[in-house]
Amino acid sequence: MNGKSPRVNGERQWSRLMAMAKIGATAQGGCNRQALTDADWEGRALLASWAHAASCTVRIDPVGNLFVRRPGREDTLPVVMTGSHLDTQPTGGKFDGVYGVIAGLEVIDSLNDLKVTTRHPIEVAVWCNEEGCRFPQPMMGSAVWSGRTPLQSAYALTDSAGKSVRQELDRLGVSTGTPVSRQPVKAALEIHIEQGPVLERCRKTIGIVTGVQHMSRHEVIVEGQEAHAGPTPMDMRRDPIRVLAELLPAFYTAAQRRAPDARLTVSIIETSPGSPNTVPGRLRVIVDLRHPVVAHYRALREEIDRLVAESLRRQGLKGSIRCVWEAPGVEFDAECIAVVRQAAAALQLNAMEIVSGAGHDSVNVAAVVPTAMIFVPCAGGLSHNEAESALPSDLEAGANVLLHAMMSLSGAGA
Ligand SMILES: [Zn+2]
Repeated sequence: MNGKSPRVNGERQWSRLMAMAKIGATAQGGCNRQALTDADWEGRALLASWAHAASCTVRIDPVGNLFVRRPGREDTLPVVMTGSHLDTQPTGGKFDGVYGVIAGLEVIDSLNDLKVTTRHPIEVAVWCNEEGCRFPQPMMGSAVWSGRTPLQSAYALTDSAGKSVRQELDRLGVSTGTPVSRQPVKAALEIHIEQGPVLERCRKTIGIVTGVQHMSRHEVIVEGQEAHAGPTPMDMRRDPIRVLAELLPAFYTAAQRRAPDARLTVSIIETSPGSPNTVPGRLRVIVDLRHPVVAHYRALREEIDRLVAESLRRQGLKGSIRCVWEAPGVEFDAECIAVVRQAAAALQLNAMEIVSGAGHDSVNVAAVVPTAMIFVPCAGGLSHNEAESALPSDLEAGANVLLHAMMSLSGAGA
């Protein structure tokens, strides 16, 4: 390496991103490459052609996850993994997921260019059906790989036309039916566009992702009694809005006590019958809760539950609160985070620690392997949008961080 700090080839990476974006390209400049479609498979074929040109092997597991492998000097050691997904939303962008795959391949090509062998083998994963739009389970492939979702329940998912994941995998030539065996992995990194506005606003090039928020949604129901808004004295009403009047300030206080990391959103408030001169007989409220630290997240949930129960008791009204959706978050591995931090520092890049607001395959991977993520800015924080955009220079800087971190984890040149 002549003592020179290694770098990726940013132009090669950009041209590959643009070549991949042509597959399933939409008129508005985005991509429609939904999971297990012909376009998804065309994208994978393009990736495989680059992988073979880089002297790598390519294999697909029984749930459709694809792995590009570059051998290590001690090839039986656990792999150092990176990757993301190639599938998109119906009106998706050019970078969500795709960048993490192309950057992983760029690391491999750069190691080839630099004639660097690593002690551990390196694998680039393409997780199947991350988006969960055609088949309704986001992060499906990584969930099966990590053992969080049984293979058969992934196979049974169907799209709106009634086609199952299993049928589509069979149609595309994947050998299904055998169990998914997870290869030993030393550590895993995923690089992704932020999909939010924080890095851009803080003028940072690199986000050192320390975790993904825990998130859940809760439905509050309060039963009252419909009554005429004129003749019924205030103290003779059973008005569910009295509970709402107590809950709103109490909810915001609970979130404020855990600032700045807690997120509490009262996203839906419904009264019925919803008539201007009737005391509502029923109130329905949806509250969305998020926090990156599991202990604080649980404490916030418990406090919200308690506030509802106390207010119902005080007001003498019947009601309930129940969790209607939950997505577990994760705190990433301290050593993997440190490796990313060191790589950004060695490259003298502007970096900050950040928590992901969106779910990623790395949440599943982190359940079984030491894992961390790297973010780069995207224009206006826009994602899941055909106008999704990122600067070539930021994407190059991110891939350089990934290269340095992967070299460190895989024992390059040691
Ligand atoms: Zn993604």
